[in-house]
Amino acid sequence: MTPKNSFTRFIFILIDGSPYQIFKDLVSDGTLPNIKRYVIDRGSFKKAVSTFPSATGPAFIPFFMGLFPGTANVPGLRWISKRLFQNPHRFRSPGICSYMGMDGLSFTEDLPHKPTLFNFFSPVSNIYNLLTRGCPSSRNRTRWIKPLAYTYAHFSHRWKFVNAIASKKLLNAVKGGDEFVMCLYPGVDTFSHLSHTTSACVLDTYREIDKTVGDVCRILQESNDFENTLIMITSDHGMSNTHTHIDIPRYLENAGLRCLHYPLLWRQQAESASMVSGNGMTHVYFKRDNEESSATGKSQKGWGERLSMERISGMGVIDPLLDIEGLDFVAGQSKDKSILVKKKTGQGKITCLNESLSYEFRGIDPLGYGTFYENLSYREALAKTYDTEYPDGLVQLWQIFQGDRTGDLVLSAQPGYDLRARYEYPEHHATHGALHAQQMLVPLAMNVPIETEYIRTVDLFPTVLSYFGHMVDLSQIDGLIVR
Ligand SMILES: [Zn+2]
Repeated sequence: MTPKNSFTRFIFILIDGSPYQIFKDLVSDGTLPNIKRYVIDRGSFKKAVSTFPSATGPAFIPFFMGLFPGTANVPGLRWISKRLFQNPHRFRSPGICSYMGMDGLSFTEDLPHKPTLFNFFSPVSNIYNLLTRGCPSSRNRTRWIKPLAYTYAHFSHRWKFVNAIASKKLLNAVKGGDEFVMCLYPGVDTFSHLSHTTSACVLDTYREIDKTVGDVCRILQESNDFENTLIMITSDHGMSNTHTHIDIPRYLENAGLRCLHYPLLWRQQAESASMVSGNGMTHVYFKRDNEESSATGKSQKGWGERLSMERISGMGVIDPLLDIEGLDFVAGQSKDKSILVKKKTGQGKITCLNESLSYEFRGIDPLGYGTFYENLSYREALAKTYDTEYPDGLVQLWQIFQGDRTGDLVLSAQPGYDLRARYEYPEHHATHGALHAQQMLVPLAMNVPIETEYIRTVDLFPTVLSYFGHMVDLSQIDGLIVR
């Protein structure tokens, strides 16, 4: 019998947009009998913390590379590089970026040149996942059908057949004996956006996935691979239902700052940009008046460097944003490089030296922790904040500002609200992207026991590899091996 910490095959099922609490309820009420029987009862079921922004794309990077989106400098589903963004070559990659539709093809190019899960296994199969770095294109089983299927489903709302294709490809890959099979199911996310997080279509998608997990496990049993196969079922982000859309670009325009926002990316003389993810968070950028270049008479290139929170406050932008009902908080970087997080009633300050985090606040604590912290390790910061409204908030707000493509400001919405009021078809009735627990917490079902209470999705990269005898240099990634 194979020891429990050694496997020869790996099946990774990512249910896009599955919130921890909803998945847990479905396990408890018997809606997911196969996942319970074949995976959870033989291993573990945990609450894991995703990453900020809690959005498809950036939130895939932790699983595949062990990096936070800020560390990887891919801080959102959409972003601007202020350094490179300029006329007339404003669309020269990577000046401005959106990974929706065909633009998703550039996602892999924008990642740092580091190994992914795909580099450690052979043969592999990839189904629908857009992080294909390291996966031979011939092994990307949906490379031809995905653009057509997604486009048709987007406009027809018929995501059921997209999920059915995933199930079929997954079963074929398992039958084919692949060492690593990665299968993304988009339906929970897309049906939630269209309706709500527990609508009939969403629940049908969960049932379909559960049935397929049963079929997968029976195939593995028939080929005597069941005991040797690591199975991981998890999600990239949670979701919460949405009743109100906030028009951030309009607020910026009302403040006299002509705003670039998706899809209006060609506008001339823009002074600001709002690049939304999920749509619960957005990066806000301001074009910097470049005093140095105007002094030398040379033409200004790009939008300059990140503006400090103090400088933006001086522009009179932040207080009006804090007055918006449903906008949860505004975060930015101070002149001293600490991270400031503001609500109308208080301000928090996060500092970090050699991965040792401290936190203080004045007024009412915007993150609700209610206590100052000094010199916490990343692991301690996770444990202290695990069961709060902003799980892992200190590390997550710190990491997102480590990339230079992150906004001057990062805005996060309260549950019930999102940050995109126009040009969203179909209208979104559920949201992710924000730092809030409902959107940050994801289920983690594995057929191995996990003892620790505290897990980030970024830990799963080194943890999974360790089960296959691959040790990665932990100093090069953000995750840790958890047991
Ligand atoms: Zn989504």
